[in-house]
Amino acid sequence: MNRIVYLDGHATTPLADEAADAMAPYWTARAGNAQSPHARGQAVAAAIELAREEVARLIGAQPQEIVFTSGATEANNLAILGVAEAARRSGSGRNKVIASAIEHKSVLAALEELANRGFEVALAPVTTDGVVDLAALEALVDERTLLVSLMGANNEVGTIQPLAQAARLVHAKGAMIHSDLAQLAGKSPVDVAALDLDYASLSAHKLYGPMGVGALFVSGLADLKPRPLVFGGGQERGLRPGTLPAPLLVGFGAASAVATRDMAEVSQRQQVLATELLAGLAARQVRLHQNAIDAPRLPGSLSLRFPSVDADEVVGRLASTICLSTGSACSAGQITVSHVLKAMSMSDGQARSVIRVYIDRYTTLDDIHFAAGEIATAVMGVSGCHWVSDPVGCAHEVHTH
Ligand code: PMP
Repeated sequence: MNRIVYLDGHATTPLADEAADAMAPYWTARAGNAQSPHARGQAVAAAIELAREEVARLIGAQPQEIVFTSGATEANNLAILGVAEAARRSGSGRNKVIASAIEHKSVLAALEELANRGFEVALAPVTTDGVVDLAALEALVDERTLLVSLMGANNEVGTIQPLAQAARLVHAKGAMIHSDLAQLAGKSPVDVAALDLDYASLSAHKLYGPMGVGALFVSGLADLKPRPLVFGGGQERGLRPGTLPAPLLVGFGAASAVATRDMAEVSQRQQVLATELLAGLAARQVRLHQNAIDAPRLPGSLSLRFPSVDADEVVGRLASTICLSTGSACSAGQITVSHVLKAMSMSDGQARSVIRVYIDRYTTLDDIHFAAGEIATAVMGVSGCHWVSDPVGCAHEVHTH
């Protein structure tokens, strides 16, 4: 069988064995609805509460501050639309919401929706290193500002954002702060209480848990509880009704516990492998530029620019062996370059030369040696080629992950 090396962990991470094992009986022998008063239902309810504790512990929250959702997309929408709606109903004079320019689409699209609903929205710029410009953010936050949304780590370039400083300056103006922690939680230490965050979003499938589940942290100290987006049977204190997906939640909890336990050791290994990949490319005389090299970054994450090389072409050539993604996406036959790379002041040409790598917990040294050889061959094969303008050459969906 063809060997496949997966280096696209920013898009999703494989399910941890511990999570798969913990989940299995909740589909079958231990299946039940947590709201049922009988023995099975109550055992499921207890398993869910254990998962809630494990997720809370991962981010330094209290269990009662965790609201389970279907993922980070929903959590981001609940935080942004829900808090805006709660503020509007409370008669608050604050109607401005700010996000950084490099947020995930689920934050940016929620801001667009707020603009349609009559809120004022603004985007804070980032430096060429992909870190929010704190002075520019401070200038945007005023006495009308309700909420600022700043991600923990970026899903394209891996930069870790200055959440503690941002929270301080936002609170100094009487506003609140939300952070999309989908890429940071479980990969690098994060403590929502120490950071003084009001709201934070999580996604299980970015931390070796199952797809289709996540959470919104709502600080017990936050001035406003979000108004729900959906209405139903009152689960999750009415903030997110719907039958709780016990197997997914048990998997999320187990994955969080493994991440809490192993994070330091895994991070160290990821750093070693990232260095090894760069050394393997250098040894083969591959010309490359590492983006955001001076910024704090997620261990295992690399954003590599191969000057004058069409990254989509490289990733296309590698598609059957090395799973990677680029900084561009094809829509309606047009190549659109990533809003993140553009916000970092890259030209379209530079952005189209960028490949995103995430070395996950299960990547081996042997995988990296194999990948270095394959990537080098593909880059060499493509370099010197002309830009591919044919839509066929841009069939790799990437930057929205
Ligand atoms: N935010 C970020 C930073 C992400 O990388 C992702 C995953 N693509 C999301 C939000 C959306 O998460 P989910 O897939 O759980 O909806």
